[in-house]
Amino acid sequence: MTILIIGGGASGMMAALTASENPEHRVILAERQSRLGRKLLATGNGRCNLTNRNTELSHYHGEKPSFCAYALKEFDCDRTLAYFRSLGLLTVTEPSGRVYPYSDSANSVLDVLRLPLEQRDNVSLLTGREILSLRKRKDGFLAKTGSEELRADRVILCAGGLAGAKLGGTDMGYKLLAAFGHSRTPLYPSLVQLKTETTLVRSLKGVRCEALVKYGRTTRRGELQFTDYGVSGPVIFELSRGAVGGELEIDLLPDLREGELLALLENRCRTLPQLKAEDLLTGILHNRLGRTILRGCGLSLEQPLHTVYDLPRVVSMCKSLSLTVLGTMGMDQAQVTAGGIRTEEFDPKTLESRLCPGLYAAGEVLDIDGDCGGYNLQWAWSSGRLAGELRGSL
Ligand SMILES: Cc1cc2nc3c(=O)[nH]c(=O)nc-3n(C[C@H](O)[C@H](O)[C@H](O)COP(=O)(O)OP(=O)(O)OC[C@H]3O[C@@H](n4cnc5c(N)ncnc54)[C@H](O)[C@@H]3O)c2cc1C
Repeated sequence: MTILIIGGGASGMMAALTASENPEHRVILAERQSRLGRKLLATGNGRCNLTNRNTELSHYHGEKPSFCAYALKEFDCDRTLAYFRSLGLLTVTEPSGRVYPYSDSANSVLDVLRLPLEQRDNVSLLTGREILSLRKRKDGFLAKTGSEELRADRVILCAGGLAGAKLGGTDMGYKLLAAFGHSRTPLYPSLVQLKTETTLVRSLKGVRCEALVKYGRTTRRGELQFTDYGVSGPVIFELSRGAVGGELEIDLLPDLREGELLALLENRCRTLPQLKAEDLLTGILHNRLGRTILRGCGLSLEQPLHTVYDLPRVVSMCKSLSLTVLGTMGMDQAQVTAGGIRTEEFDPKTLESRLCPGLYAAGEVLDIDGDCGGYNLQWAWSSGRLAGELRGSL
Protein backbone atom coordinates (compact mmCIF):
# COMPACT_ATOMS: atom_id res chain seq x y z
CA MET A 1 0.00 0.00 0.00
CA THR A 2 1.34 3.45 -0.92
CA ILE A 3 0.84 6.29 1.53
CA LEU A 4 1.46 9.86 0.48
CA ILE A 5 2.14 12.34 3.25
CA ILE A 6 1.84 15.97 2.23
CA GLY A 7 4.10 18.22 4.33
CA GLY A 8 7.40 17.33 6.00
CA GLY A 9 6.93 19.36 9.17
CA ALA A 10 6.40 18.11 12.71
CA SER A 11 3.18 16.16 12.14
CA GLY A 12 4.20 14.92 8.68
CA MET A 13 7.50 13.47 9.89
CA MET A 14 5.73 11.78 12.80
CA ALA A 15 3.07 10.38 10.45
CA ALA A 16 5.76 9.12 8.03
CA LEU A 17 7.75 7.40 10.78
CA THR A 18 4.58 5.77 12.10
CA ALA A 19 3.22 4.65 8.72
CA SER A 20 6.61 3.23 7.71
CA GLU A 21 6.75 0.97 10.78
CA ASN A 22 4.73 -1.46 8.67
CA PRO A 23 7.22 -2.88 6.13
CA GLU A 24 4.39 -3.47 3.66
CA HIS A 25 3.74 0.25 3.46
CA ARG A 26 5.52 2.37 0.89
CA VAL A 27 5.63 5.90 2.27
CA ILE A 28 6.18 9.01 0.18
CA LEU A 29 6.81 12.20 2.16
CA ALA A 30 6.45 15.30 -0.04
CA GLU A 31 7.75 18.65 1.27
CA ARG A 32 7.58 21.86 -0.74
CA GLN A 33 10.64 23.40 0.89
CA SER A 34 14.18 22.26 0.14
CA ARG A 35 14.50 20.51 3.51
CA LEU A 36 12.31 18.82 6.09
CA GLY A 37 11.22 20.55 9.30
CA ARG A 38 12.30 24.13 8.62
CA LYS A 39 9.75 25.53 11.04
CA LEU A 40 10.76 23.02 13.69
CA LEU A 41 14.27 24.48 13.68
CA ALA A 42 12.88 27.89 14.61
CA THR A 43 10.70 26.65 17.45
CA GLY A 44 11.32 27.71 21.03
CA ASN A 45 13.81 30.36 19.86
CA GLY A 46 15.91 27.61 18.32
CA ARG A 47 15.62 25.42 21.44
CA CYS A 48 12.36 23.63 20.47
CA ASN A 49 9.89 23.38 23.31
CA LEU A 50 8.71 19.99 22.12
CA THR A 51 6.00 19.29 24.66
CA ASN A 52 4.67 20.14 28.11
CA ARG A 53 4.17 17.90 31.12
CA ASN A 54 0.73 19.45 31.74
CA THR A 55 -1.16 18.77 28.53
CA GLU A 56 -4.71 19.24 29.82
CA LEU A 57 -7.41 19.91 27.25
CA SER A 58 -7.87 23.44 28.64
CA HIS A 59 -4.66 24.42 26.81
CA TYR A 60 -6.26 23.74 23.42
CA HIS A 61 -8.66 25.91 21.40
CA GLY A 62 -10.84 25.79 18.30
CA GLU A 63 -14.57 25.44 17.61
CA LYS A 64 -14.43 21.97 19.22
CA PRO A 65 -11.29 21.61 21.31
CA SER A 66 -12.52 18.24 22.64
CA PHE A 67 -11.74 16.87 19.16
CA CYS A 68 -8.06 16.59 20.10
CA ALA A 69 -8.68 14.67 23.36
CA TYR A 70 -8.47 11.18 21.86
CA ALA A 71 -5.23 11.75 19.95
CA LEU A 72 -3.65 13.48 22.96
CA LYS A 73 -4.62 10.57 25.23
CA GLU A 74 -3.44 7.90 22.82
CA PHE A 75 -0.02 9.51 22.38
CA ASP A 76 0.34 11.64 25.50
CA CYS A 77 3.36 13.51 26.79
CA ASP A 78 4.87 10.41 28.47
CA ARG A 79 4.46 8.27 25.36
CA THR A 80 5.80 11.07 23.18
CA LEU A 81 8.89 11.42 25.34
CA ALA A 82 9.39 7.64 25.46
CA TYR A 83 9.11 7.61 21.66
CA PHE A 84 11.65 10.42 21.24
CA ARG A 85 13.91 8.60 23.70
CA SER A 86 13.65 5.49 21.52
CA LEU A 87 14.80 7.67 18.61
CA GLY A 88 17.78 8.70 20.73
CA LEU A 89 16.69 12.14 21.99
CA LEU A 90 17.56 13.20 25.53
CA THR A 91 15.28 15.85 27.02
CA VAL A 92 15.01 18.08 30.09
CA THR A 93 11.85 19.31 31.78
CA GLU A 94 11.85 22.84 33.17
CA PRO A 95 9.97 23.58 36.43
CA SER A 96 7.17 25.12 34.31
CA GLY A 97 6.58 21.71 32.69
CA ARG A 98 8.07 22.75 29.34
CA VAL A 99 10.25 20.07 27.78
CA TYR A 100 13.35 20.86 25.68
CA PRO A 101 16.06 18.73 24.10
CA TYR A 102 19.00 18.22 26.47
CA SER A 103 21.25 19.75 23.79
CA ASP A 104 19.12 22.93 23.96
CA SER A 105 19.04 22.82 20.17
CA ALA A 106 16.01 22.30 17.93
CA ASN A 107 18.38 20.63 15.47
CA SER A 108 18.51 17.58 17.72
CA VAL A 109 14.73 17.10 17.53
CA LEU A 110 14.74 17.45 13.76
CA ASP A 111 17.73 15.13 13.38
CA VAL A 112 16.28 12.24 15.38
CA LEU A 113 13.16 12.38 13.19
CA ARG A 114 14.99 12.90 9.91
CA LEU A 115 17.74 10.29 10.26
CA PRO A 116 15.50 7.18 10.50
CA LEU A 117 13.31 8.54 7.69
CA GLU A 118 16.42 8.79 5.50
CA GLN A 119 17.45 5.25 6.44
CA ARG A 120 14.19 3.35 5.98
CA ASP A 121 13.98 1.49 2.67
CA ASN A 122 10.21 1.93 2.44
CA VAL A 123 10.33 5.77 2.72
CA SER A 124 10.90 8.16 -0.20
CA LEU A 125 11.63 11.75 0.79
CA LEU A 126 10.65 14.19 -1.92
CA THR A 127 11.85 17.63 -0.84
CA GLY A 128 11.36 20.71 -2.99
CA ARG A 129 8.05 19.22 -4.24
CA GLU A 130 4.85 21.12 -3.65
CA ILE A 131 1.64 19.16 -4.09
CA LEU A 132 -0.48 21.48 -6.19
CA SER A 133 -3.55 19.31 -6.64
CA LEU A 134 -5.03 16.16 -5.17
CA ARG A 135 -7.87 14.07 -6.60
CA LYS A 136 -9.53 10.81 -5.75
CA ARG A 137 -9.95 8.24 -8.49
CA LYS A 138 -11.33 4.69 -8.47
CA ASP A 139 -7.87 3.22 -7.88
CA GLY A 140 -6.76 5.67 -5.16
CA PHE A 141 -5.46 9.23 -5.03
CA LEU A 142 -3.59 11.20 -7.65
CA ALA A 143 -1.42 14.11 -6.53
CA LYS A 144 0.36 16.49 -8.86
CA THR A 145 3.49 18.57 -8.30
CA GLY A 146 4.64 21.02 -10.98
CA SER A 147 6.31 18.23 -12.97
CA GLU A 148 5.16 14.80 -11.77
CA GLU A 149 2.17 12.73 -10.74
CA LEU A 150 2.13 10.67 -7.56
CA ARG A 151 -0.32 7.83 -7.01
CA ALA A 152 -1.28 6.72 -3.52
CA ASP A 153 -3.79 4.47 -1.75
CA ARG A 154 -3.95 6.72 1.30
CA VAL A 155 -3.09 10.38 1.81
CA ILE A 156 -2.22 12.09 5.09
CA LEU A 157 -2.38 15.86 4.77
CA CYS A 158 0.09 17.53 7.19
CA ALA A 159 0.54 20.85 5.39
CA GLY A 160 0.39 23.05 8.52
CA GLY A 161 -1.23 26.47 8.75
CA LEU A 162 -0.66 30.02 7.60
CA ALA A 163 1.44 31.19 10.54
CA GLY A 164 5.14 31.86 10.03
CA ALA A 165 5.07 32.26 6.23
CA LYS A 166 8.85 32.62 5.99
CA LEU A 167 9.24 29.23 7.66
CA GLY A 168 6.74 27.44 5.45
CA GLY A 169 3.32 28.71 6.53
CA THR A 170 0.92 28.40 3.56
CA ASP A 171 -2.75 28.08 2.73
CA MET A 172 -2.14 25.09 0.40
CA GLY A 173 -3.42 22.58 2.95
CA TYR A 174 -6.76 24.36 3.24
CA LYS A 175 -7.03 24.55 -0.57
CA LEU A 176 -6.23 20.87 -1.10
CA LEU A 177 -8.84 19.84 1.47
CA ALA A 178 -11.43 22.28 0.10
CA ALA A 179 -11.34 20.29 -3.16
CA PHE A 180 -12.88 17.38 -1.18
CA GLY A 181 -15.65 19.56 0.19
CA HIS A 182 -13.95 20.39 3.49
CA SER A 183 -14.67 23.79 5.02
CA ARG A 184 -12.69 25.93 7.41
CA THR A 185 -13.30 28.37 10.23
CA PRO A 186 -11.91 31.94 10.01
CA LEU A 187 -8.12 32.06 10.39
CA TYR A 188 -6.31 34.50 12.65
CA PRO A 189 -2.85 34.73 14.19
CA SER A 190 -2.16 33.39 17.67
CA LEU A 191 0.95 33.39 19.87
CA VAL A 192 2.00 36.68 18.33
CA GLN A 193 3.34 40.08 19.38
CA LEU A 194 0.85 42.90 19.96
CA LYS A 195 1.00 46.34 18.41
CA THR A 196 0.07 48.97 20.95
CA GLU A 197 -0.02 52.71 21.16
CA THR A 198 3.70 53.51 21.55
CA THR A 199 3.98 57.11 22.79
CA LEU A 200 4.87 55.97 26.29
CA VAL A 201 6.75 52.75 25.60
CA ARG A 202 8.77 53.37 22.43
CA SER A 203 11.89 54.24 24.42
CA LEU A 204 11.61 50.93 26.28
CA LYS A 205 12.60 48.76 23.31
CA GLY A 206 14.39 45.66 24.62
CA VAL A 207 13.40 46.10 28.28
CA ARG A 208 12.06 42.89 29.83
CA CYS A 209 10.20 42.37 33.08
CA GLU A 210 8.05 39.86 34.93
CA ALA A 211 4.46 41.12 34.75
CA LEU A 212 0.87 40.22 35.42
CA VAL A 213 -1.10 41.24 32.35
CA LYS A 214 -4.87 41.50 32.01
CA TYR A 215 -6.48 41.64 28.56
CA GLY A 216 -10.23 41.35 28.30
CA ARG A 217 -11.29 38.58 30.63
CA THR A 218 -7.91 36.83 30.62
CA THR A 219 -5.04 37.43 33.03
CA ARG A 220 -1.61 35.85 32.62
CA ARG A 221 1.72 36.21 34.38
CA GLY A 222 5.12 35.86 32.77
CA GLU A 223 7.92 37.62 30.95
CA LEU A 224 6.97 40.72 28.99
CA GLN A 225 9.23 42.47 26.52
CA PHE A 226 8.77 46.02 25.27
CA THR A 227 9.43 46.62 21.57
CA ASP A 228 9.33 49.61 19.24
CA TYR A 229 5.86 48.62 17.99
CA GLY A 230 4.34 47.47 21.29
CA VAL A 231 4.82 44.38 23.43
CA SER A 232 6.08 40.83 23.05
CA GLY A 233 7.20 37.93 25.23
CA PRO A 234 5.56 34.71 26.46
CA VAL A 235 2.91 36.47 28.55
CA ILE A 236 1.79 38.52 25.54
CA PHE A 237 1.76 35.49 23.22
CA GLU A 238 -0.62 33.79 25.61
CA LEU A 239 -3.03 36.73 25.46
CA SER A 240 -2.79 37.38 21.74
CA ARG A 241 -5.33 34.84 20.44
CA GLY A 242 -7.96 36.88 18.60
CA ALA A 243 -6.61 40.22 19.85
CA VAL A 244 -8.37 43.28 18.44
CA GLY A 245 -8.41 46.64 20.23
CA GLY A 246 -9.05 47.10 23.93
CA GLU A 247 -6.61 47.82 26.75
CA LEU A 248 -3.76 45.83 28.27
CA GLU A 249 -3.51 46.38 32.03
CA ILE A 250 0.05 45.62 33.09
CA ASP A 251 1.08 45.07 36.71
CA LEU A 252 4.84 45.66 36.59
CA LEU A 253 5.35 44.55 40.20
CA PRO A 254 3.05 41.56 40.70
CA ASP A 255 4.81 40.43 43.88
CA LEU A 256 4.34 43.74 45.69
CA ARG A 257 1.04 44.98 47.09
CA GLU A 258 0.14 48.64 46.47
CA GLY A 259 0.56 49.49 50.16
CA GLU A 260 4.03 47.92 50.27
CA LEU A 261 5.15 49.83 47.19
CA LEU A 262 3.77 53.10 48.58
CA ALA A 263 5.64 52.51 51.86
CA LEU A 264 8.88 51.91 49.93
CA LEU A 265 8.48 55.12 47.94
CA GLU A 266 7.53 57.18 51.00
CA ASN A 267 10.58 55.86 52.79
CA ARG A 268 12.84 56.89 49.88
CA CYS A 269 11.37 60.40 49.77
CA ARG A 270 11.76 60.73 53.55
CA THR A 271 15.32 59.41 53.81
CA LEU A 272 16.72 60.94 50.58
CA PRO A 273 14.66 64.14 50.10
CA GLN A 274 17.27 65.90 47.92
CA LEU A 275 17.59 62.98 45.47
CA LYS A 276 16.32 63.70 41.96
CA ALA A 277 12.93 62.18 41.07
CA GLU A 278 14.58 60.09 38.34
CA ASP A 279 15.80 57.79 41.11
CA LEU A 280 12.45 57.31 42.82
CA LEU A 281 12.02 53.83 41.29
CA THR A 282 15.73 52.92 41.15
CA GLY A 283 16.26 49.41 42.48
CA ILE A 284 12.58 48.63 42.06
CA LEU A 285 12.12 48.65 38.28
CA HIS A 286 14.50 48.57 35.32
CA ASN A 287 15.89 52.14 35.19
CA ARG A 288 14.41 52.96 31.77
CA LEU A 289 11.05 51.55 32.79
CA GLY A 290 11.09 53.50 36.06
CA ARG A 291 11.78 56.78 34.27
CA THR A 292 9.06 56.10 31.73
CA ILE A 293 6.57 55.59 34.55
CA LEU A 294 7.66 58.85 36.21
CA ARG A 295 7.31 60.77 32.95
CA GLY A 296 3.92 59.14 32.41
CA CYS A 297 2.90 60.52 35.82
CA GLY A 298 3.89 64.01 34.67
CA LEU A 299 6.91 64.28 36.97
CA SER A 300 10.07 66.15 36.03
CA LEU A 301 13.04 63.79 36.43
CA GLU A 302 15.09 66.70 37.81
CA GLN A 303 12.79 67.71 40.66
CA PRO A 304 13.93 66.71 44.18
CA LEU A 305 12.03 63.93 45.89
CA HIS A 306 10.71 66.18 48.65
CA THR A 307 8.63 67.97 45.98
CA VAL A 308 6.99 64.76 44.73
CA TYR A 309 3.51 64.79 46.28
CA ASP A 310 1.52 62.31 44.21
CA LEU A 311 3.14 58.98 45.15
CA PRO A 312 -0.18 57.04 44.93
CA ARG A 313 -0.29 57.93 41.21
CA VAL A 314 3.18 56.47 40.70
CA VAL A 315 2.08 53.34 42.58
CA SER A 316 -1.05 53.05 40.51
CA MET A 317 0.87 53.30 37.23
CA CYS A 318 3.37 50.64 38.32
CA LYS A 319 0.54 48.32 39.30
CA SER A 320 -1.70 49.08 36.35
CA LEU A 321 0.08 50.46 33.31
CA SER A 322 -2.52 50.75 30.58
CA LEU A 323 -1.67 50.32 26.88
CA THR A 324 -4.16 50.50 24.02
CA VAL A 325 -3.92 47.48 21.69
CA LEU A 326 -3.92 48.38 17.99
CA GLY A 327 -3.73 44.81 16.64
CA THR A 328 -1.31 41.91 16.24
CA MET A 329 1.88 41.66 14.20
CA GLY A 330 0.00 39.34 11.83
CA MET A 331 0.32 35.82 10.42
CA ASP A 332 3.93 36.20 9.30
CA GLN A 333 5.08 36.75 12.87
CA ALA A 334 2.60 34.41 14.54
CA GLN A 335 3.69 31.05 15.91
CA VAL A 336 0.38 29.38 15.27
CA THR A 337 -2.80 29.72 13.20
CA ALA A 338 -6.01 29.84 15.18
CA GLY A 339 -8.82 28.33 13.14
CA GLY A 340 -8.51 25.78 10.37
CA ILE A 341 -10.35 22.90 8.73
CA ARG A 342 -13.54 22.06 10.66
CA THR A 343 -12.79 19.13 12.94
CA GLU A 344 -16.36 17.77 12.82
CA GLU A 345 -15.53 16.71 9.25
CA PHE A 346 -12.93 14.25 10.63
CA ASP A 347 -13.20 11.22 12.91
CA PRO A 348 -11.34 12.10 16.15
CA LYS A 349 -10.38 8.44 16.72
CA THR A 350 -8.67 7.99 13.35
CA LEU A 351 -8.27 11.51 11.86
CA GLU A 352 -9.78 10.14 8.66
CA SER A 353 -11.98 12.49 6.65
CA ARG A 354 -15.70 11.84 6.99
CA LEU A 355 -16.10 13.21 3.46
CA CYS A 356 -13.41 11.19 1.71
CA PRO A 357 -12.40 7.76 3.09
CA GLY A 358 -8.66 7.15 2.84
CA LEU A 359 -7.82 10.84 3.31
CA TYR A 360 -6.41 11.86 6.72
CA ALA A 361 -5.27 15.18 8.21
CA ALA A 362 -3.05 16.06 11.17
CA GLY A 363 -1.44 19.08 12.81
CA GLU A 364 -2.11 22.77 12.48
CA VAL A 365 -4.19 22.55 9.28
CA LEU A 366 -7.07 21.38 11.48
CA ASP A 367 -9.00 23.82 13.67
CA ILE A 368 -6.94 23.14 16.81
CA ASP A 369 -4.38 25.48 18.33
CA GLY A 370 -2.64 25.35 21.67
CA ASP A 371 -1.28 27.74 24.25
CA CYS A 372 2.35 28.80 24.38
CA GLY A 373 4.53 26.15 26.06
CA GLY A 374 4.93 23.08 23.82
CA TYR A 375 1.22 22.42 23.31
CA ASN A 376 1.23 22.96 19.54
CA LEU A 377 4.05 20.54 18.89
CA GLN A 378 2.40 17.99 21.20
CA TRP A 379 -0.71 18.25 19.02
CA ALA A 380 1.45 17.79 15.91
CA TRP A 381 3.12 14.66 17.42
CA SER A 382 -0.13 13.15 18.74
CA SER A 383 -2.17 13.80 15.60
CA GLY A 384 0.68 12.77 13.29
CA ARG A 385 1.06 9.53 15.21
CA LEU A 386 -2.68 8.73 15.12
CA ALA A 387 -3.07 9.57 11.44
CA GLY A 388 0.07 7.55 10.60
CA GLU A 389 -1.52 4.47 12.17
CA LEU A 390 -4.13 4.57 9.36
CA ARG A 391 -6.90 3.20 11.56
CA GLY A 392 -9.60 4.43 9.18
CA SER A 393 -12.45 2.71 7.40
CA LEU A 394 -10.64 1.71 4.20
C1 LIG B 1 8.75 30.86 15.27
C2 LIG B 1 7.90 29.70 15.79
C3 LIG B 1 8.21 29.14 17.02
C4 LIG B 1 7.42 28.09 17.52
N1 LIG B 1 7.78 27.52 18.72
C5 LIG B 1 7.05 26.48 19.19
C6 LIG B 1 7.46 25.79 20.37
O1 LIG B 1 8.53 26.06 20.94
N2 LIG B 1 6.65 24.80 20.84
C7 LIG B 1 5.48 24.42 20.20
O2 LIG B 1 4.79 23.53 20.67
N3 LIG B 1 5.12 25.02 19.03
C8 LIG B 1 5.88 26.01 18.51
N4 LIG B 1 5.51 26.59 17.33
C9 LIG B 1 4.33 26.05 16.59
C10 LIG B 1 4.69 24.74 15.88
O3 LIG B 1 5.92 24.88 15.20
C11 LIG B 1 3.61 24.34 14.89
O4 LIG B 1 2.35 24.34 15.52
C12 LIG B 1 3.89 22.97 14.29
O5 LIG B 1 5.11 22.99 13.58
C13 LIG B 1 2.77 22.53 13.38
O6 LIG B 1 3.12 21.30 12.80
P1 LIG B 1 2.53 20.89 11.38
O7 LIG B 1 3.18 19.63 11.02
O8 LIG B 1 1.05 20.95 11.42
O9 LIG B 1 2.97 22.05 10.40
P2 LIG B 1 4.46 22.54 9.96
O10 LIG B 1 5.45 22.14 10.99
O11 LIG B 1 4.28 23.95 9.61
O12 LIG B 1 4.72 21.67 8.67
C14 LIG B 1 3.95 21.78 7.49
C15 LIG B 1 4.87 21.50 6.32
O13 LIG B 1 4.09 21.27 5.17
C16 LIG B 1 4.75 21.83 4.06
N5 LIG B 1 3.73 22.00 3.01
C17 LIG B 1 2.65 22.81 3.05
N6 LIG B 1 1.91 22.66 1.93
C18 LIG B 1 2.55 21.74 1.17
C19 LIG B 1 2.26 21.19 -0.10
N7 LIG B 1 1.18 21.54 -0.81
N8 LIG B 1 3.14 20.29 -0.62
C20 LIG B 1 4.24 19.91 0.08
N9 LIG B 1 4.55 20.42 1.31
C21 LIG B 1 3.70 21.32 1.84
C22 LIG B 1 5.33 23.10 4.62
O14 LIG B 1 6.41 23.58 3.85
C23 LIG B 1 5.77 22.66 6.01
O15 LIG B 1 7.11 22.21 6.04
C24 LIG B 1 6.31 27.63 16.78
C25 LIG B 1 6.01 28.19 15.54
C26 LIG B 1 6.80 29.22 15.04
C27 LIG B 1 6.47 29.80 13.70
